[in-house]
Amino acid sequence: MQILPGIYILHGSAYGAHVNFYLLHGKEGTVIIDTGIVPADIERAERRMQLWGVPLEKIDYIMLTHSHYDHAGNAALLKKRGATVVAGPGDAEGIEQSDSRTIPYAEGLQVPPCKVDLVVTDGEIVDACGYSFEVIHVPGHTDGSVIYQLRLFDKIIWFSGDLFFAVDRDFTADLCWRGTEEFDREKYIKSLKRLSAMPVDCVLAGHLLPCPDEAFRLVGHAYSKALIELR
Ligand SMILES: [Zn+2]
Repeated sequence: MQILPGIYILHGSAYGAHVNFYLLHGKEGTVIIDTGIVPADIERAERRMQLWGVPLEKIDYIMLTHSHYDHAGNAALLKKRGATVVAGPGDAEGIEQSDSRTIPYAEGLQVPPCKVDLVVTDGEIVDACGYSFEVIHVPGHTDGSVIYQLRLFDKIIWFSGDLFFAVDRDFTADLCWRGTEEFDREKYIKSLKRLSAMPVDCVLAGHLLPCPDEAFRLVGHAYSKALIELR
């Protein structure tokens, strides 16, 4: 499903599946944001992209929002298609070592270890296939969670991973899953506070619905919900 010109949701809520991942397809190449869990997720995505005339045989960049198995599970598989793999600090190490930072204990799924080529930090710009991604480091859900920000079509777009999710069209937010060893409440609230002061139009998160407009309202709700529920 195409969300904005050249930006597709490959798998996830639009198809009744648990985890969202995205594809950007431009003249200079193909970027995937997160990768899903098992190879069957990729096979289904490939069949869908055939309908749009977008091939997935070659992938130039894999941008991982964080290390959890449902986001990084297919990174090693897709890297074989020529991709440069990008992830945040600490989480990159977790993905390379396939350690507890991929939360294998959650569903008993072991992430195939994957070499990360580029470890990114806050404020860094990643130029990938003509897209200029700005990295926002948002620790809390995991220590190395990052948002990839794009300015495109006069919009500010966030690929935001698991920080918060859109439940409905009224900007009701769900907070991240907090059952992991790594979850840090103070860092999480601080990250949401920082994000709530930033302009954003469109949030494409790791679960639930895309929020294509006025997404700052969703971020504001997530922050106030965290203050009420987590302090
Ligand atoms: Zn997660």
